[in-house]
Amino acid sequence: MAGAVIDLKPRFDSRLPDSADVVIIGGGIMGVSAAWHLAKSGVQNIVLLELGDLGGGSSAKPLGGVRANFSDPGNIMLGKRSLEAYRKFDAEFGAGIGLQQVGYLFLCRNDDSLQALEAATATQNSMGVSSRMIDAEEAERINPFIDARALNGASFSPEDGYAEPALAVAGYAHAARQLGVRILTHTQVLDIETAEGTIRSVRTNRGKISTNAVICCAGAWSAQIGQMAGVSLPVVPTKRMIGLTMPQATTPARIPFTLDLATTMYFHNYGSGLLLGISHEQPEGFGREFDYSWLAEFNDAAAVCAPGLENPDLVGGWAGYYENTPDHNALIGHSRDLPGFFYATGFSGHGFLQGPAVGELVADLYHGRTSFMDPTPFSVDRFDNDTSRLREVNII
Ligand SMILES: Cc1cc2nc3c(=O)[nH]c(=O)nc-3n(C[C@H](O)[C@H](O)[C@H](O)COP(=O)(O)OP(=O)(O)OC[C@H]3O[C@@H](n4cnc5c(N)ncnc54)[C@H](O)[C@@H]3O)c2cc1C
Repeated sequence: MAGAVIDLKPRFDSRLPDSADVVIIGGGIMGVSAAWHLAKSGVQNIVLLELGDLGGGSSAKPLGGVRANFSDPGNIMLGKRSLEAYRKFDAEFGAGIGLQQVGYLFLCRNDDSLQALEAATATQNSMGVSSRMIDAEEAERINPFIDARALNGASFSPEDGYAEPALAVAGYAHAARQLGVRILTHTQVLDIETAEGTIRSVRTNRGKISTNAVICCAGAWSAQIGQMAGVSLPVVPTKRMIGLTMPQATTPARIPFTLDLATTMYFHNYGSGLLLGISHEQPEGFGREFDYSWLAEFNDAAAVCAPGLENPDLVGGWAGYYENTPDHNALIGHSRDLPGFFYATGFSGHGFLQGPAVGELVADLYHGRTSFMDPTPFSVDRFDNDTSRLREVNII
């Protein structure tokens, strides 16, 4: 069974049920992970609604980085626990996700960033993550594209890497269906009806489902879902793009996921080519047409710390949404004003790597029980007070 191929577009259940104990909105990595964790915890009558095909939102990224090398302890815990789950995915679900633990290499080019990286690495180590600080020469040895002369240090976390989001989405969806979750694709949530301070139903293009509980996993579209229920979810879509290069005989077969903290330029293997990008500033809003507007910025960064990558031989690329919150960290919790309204959204560009752990947290939140960590710092209520915003250094 190991490595079995799972249909990436499972048939959707044809009939919209009249009622559900829980309605999950969104069939990306968060929705399907939450569905599986809830079903596994014994919840019956779960319905997942997806506007398009499963994994067609931000989770459509061809390869997603998975890592625990953050600076905030909550993010470290979510990354570490998810990495453990992704490592066991094949054994648990009988389907591989193409996990490559090639490591993450963070490059530093100034003292401030070096100090911040040292502090983050110390926090990671105190939580059992095997990352370490290395000097510029070792960084160049680990990744031959790097010019050590540009750096004043780096960190390397050997257990991190990347995997294929589409396979993870398909694996969770398949397993959730086997536990009885009804997954309805091409089904758009149009409204959430409430009365006397409780959720009564979810209205879709295919009819209405009575329910008292909704979990918003709608990624970049979450603000609209929140609005339907009168819950503020400050999530803003922002386009981000990546490029894919021609296969090159000279590309080392196994380099780490490498990121220059000064510019956010990053790259790693993609088949026998490379996947690369940079966080080129884009206006907020919907629209995900791919173009090469980011390339000049990438070339400037590459010229300094990875000269062989300047003017890469690109064969195309991909555009998707970062689902940004005001502090670029996730929103995980439940509404204090509308009982039964839960949310797991706003992952601001690092949602794939947190998917398994967040699904588990959401299931525990639903049951009102203690989980492997306290999710309170990720509640949307943190924006009531500027001082409780999350501060994460290792995000782009
Ligand atoms: C260029 C780029 C690089 C990235 N790199 C990484 C990385 O290396 N590592 C990492 O962890 N993350 C990365 N991310 C981010 C990651 O892809 C996302 O954080 C993650 O996929 C979010 O998953 P999600 O389930 O929350 O949202 P999505 O996958 O967007 O799923 C939300 C779903 O909700 C559905 N929906 C919306 N409205 C409705 C409605 N009204 N009714 C029904 N369904 C609805 C949508 O169709 C969508 O399928 C990257 C993103 C981009 C753009």
